[in-house]
Amino acid sequence: MRRRLTCFAFLATALTAIVGSALLPSVDPEKVRAHVKYLASDELEGRGMNQKGSDLAAQYIADQFKSYGLKPAGDNGTYFQQVPMVGVQTLPETTFSLVPNSGAPVLLKNLDDYVTTNERQTASAEIDAPIVFVGFGITAPEYQWDDYKGFDLKGKVALLFVSEPVSDDPDFFKGKALTYYGRWTYKFEETARRGAVATLIIHRTDLASYGWGVVRNSWGGEKSFLKLDGTPKLTAASWIQLEVARKLVAMDGLDLDKLFEQSQSRAFKPIELPVKLKAHIASVVRPFDSRNVLAMLEGSDSAKKSQSVLYTAHYDHFGIDKSKPAGANIYHGAVDNATGCGILLELGRVWAATKPAPPRSILFAAVTAEEQGLLGSEFLGKHRAQLPVQPILDLNYDAVAPLGEPEEVQVSGAERTSFYPTVEEIAKQFQLTIRPDARPEAGHYYRSDHFSLGRVGIPAFSISEGMKFKGHDTKWGEAQAKDYVDNRYHQPSDEYKPEMDFRGDAVMGDFGYALGQKAASAPAIPLWLPGDEFAPAQKKLLSSKIRGASFWRPSRSHTSPTDADSESCASQTNPDGRECWSASRSLQRGK
Ligand SMILES: [Zn+2]
Repeated sequence: MRRRLTCFAFLATALTAIVGSALLPSVDPEKVRAHVKYLASDELEGRGMNQKGSDLAAQYIADQFKSYGLKPAGDNGTYFQQVPMVGVQTLPETTFSLVPNSGAPVLLKNLDDYVTTNERQTASAEIDAPIVFVGFGITAPEYQWDDYKGFDLKGKVALLFVSEPVSDDPDFFKGKALTYYGRWTYKFEETARRGAVATLIIHRTDLASYGWGVVRNSWGGEKSFLKLDGTPKLTAASWIQLEVARKLVAMDGLDLDKLFEQSQSRAFKPIELPVKLKAHIASVVRPFDSRNVLAMLEGSDSAKKSQSVLYTAHYDHFGIDKSKPAGANIYHGAVDNATGCGILLELGRVWAATKPAPPRSILFAAVTAEEQGLLGSEFLGKHRAQLPVQPILDLNYDAVAPLGEPEEVQVSGAERTSFYPTVEEIAKQFQLTIRPDARPEAGHYYRSDHFSLGRVGIPAFSISEGMKFKGHDTKWGEAQAKDYVDNRYHQPSDEYKPEMDFRGDAVMGDFGYALGQKAASAPAIPLWLPGDEFAPAQKKLLSSKIRGASFWRPSRSHTSPTDADSESCASQTNPDGRECWSASRSLQRGK
């Protein structure tokens, strides 16, 4: 019986994928095209946050969801989840000076020597605090690493390197791959959690993987944040030029290159410098609201429908820059990320037409403010308790190139979850080779919306094509990718073109649909593998209660909890049965 079912499921998926049969729902490349054409049109003015274009885009997406018959899943029975935000722009009258215990202060030049932003969102702030060098500023118990050694950062200024200790050992900071500990966002978050008032990240082009020009450009204008919600924040979240850092540590007779060497050791201890940062930070603070667009298909199993498979894609882009001449001032964002929205909408349509609905629910989120630092998805992840159904897996789409039929798929991060064998199985059915992350050291995992869900414990990854397309070699695909990055990425020229071929986008959509079918029907939920940086967050999530009830417990209606759990473990192709058990126990504890 089981075998026959599996066989049927296989056939259904294969048929959907291969022939796109009229009987079985599948993503239509021409419908993806129509969405991309509209979302990337001049009328939508680049979907800039807090601009007319993003409101039109959000409304369009909500209208489409409604037309498919999906239910609203936002605030108060609407399709919208309000995301309160604040724009902060640092003004030129901001001053930074390095004041040594003895000797003359050194005045730094805004944008040339440093960039800063007031994350505490006040118009005016003063800092007069000692500077402490904290190495990489990392506390990572799983690697027995702690740069702080009990040092109290409260009220102080942290000086640190971006990135993480150099390693070839996959068990130590994942070898060459960048972990979240190496990202600049982690540095600001961790030092703020420790009570620092300011943090100065030392910019080294090789470690940051981009030059000072990029830092200067992206920090020179207004930066957006979620409205303060009690999460600790810095008064001055800053980067400083490498040469400025050299001069700063030299005030204590220290050599920056030697400090970098010392930072590679577990024995490293913070060094309080005999230098204070004296700063005046003036900012324009502008509160505004943005919106995530949320819709759902209710699951068919009363015991499981409180859980959901979540699909995400960001709909925002950089908008219109009215200081530039008309005709070249709209950041259309066709590939980034009208393509992901087109796929998301098609998934909504296809799922709405799926009869019967799967046991678990399906949730769709077109999120805002990705380009501002994954803010819409961060809000979604932080406020997941308000969602009508709790996500157990997030499948994200961001910039899926319309280049024809793919022979590869990229699912970086999936290999870190118990869901990976299913991903491999579905890839095989679709005749897609899984392409590994070519540059894990660049930390791409942390640069799109799935990360916002991953960090709160929900297994999450993006689905995109690789480099090999039918009728072309890998070099062709790589050349297309390079051409996009060099000539269109985050530029007004990322426009819709009639010659775009959306068949690959449709395949990626169908692939995500097949994965969703599996996850929405499987007895057990996907788990981060033991030892993964997000496994502790998932444990916490699984033991939490939402509105007084646990959404994570498997069904109790047919079998005893023990039976249900053991069935989950046995039937899910989980490489680590033990982890499945321990998660099941925390499920019971959560009850
Ligand atoms: Zn982008």
